[in-house]
Amino acid sequence: MKTWVHSLVSFILALVLYPIFGWEAVLILAGGILIDFDHYIRFMFKYKNLSIFECYRHYILMFKKNNFDECNDGLFIFHTIEFAIVIAILSFFNRLAMIFAIGLLAHYLLDLIWHMHVPRRIVANHSLISWILKQKF
Ligand SMILES: [Zn+2]
Repeated sequence: MKTWVHSLVSFILALVLYPIFGWEAVLILAGGILIDFDHYIRFMFKYKNLSIFECYRHYILMFKKNNFDECNDGLFIFHTIEFAIVIAILSFFNRLAMIFAIGLLAHYLLDLIWHMHVPRRIVANHSLISWILKQKF
């Protein structure tokens, strides 16, 4: 899903929930937008390139050209089931983690919609354990 869509939905969600959470609602933006930072982490390690602009262009343009195949072996750490489980567990004990989890859930739902409509399949590896088992060390 494009960054502006994540931003718009997260901002609206934070605005709607502001009367309940106050300024802590800003954590919805963190969960809804900033978790895509893992795309940049992967880009830096895979291509040894620190340019955030080239990273953005890479994911927007190159993936469309090769039907997102480059992404099949990819691990986006904040988009794994293990990360989601950790945040879900933390959210039972910590109010800030719970607010962050609301943004995260919205982000995951938007990503799921994107997967169903753009590549029409799940791209990348969404399990850290599965990804580790597939690596050839
Ligand atoms: Zn995402």
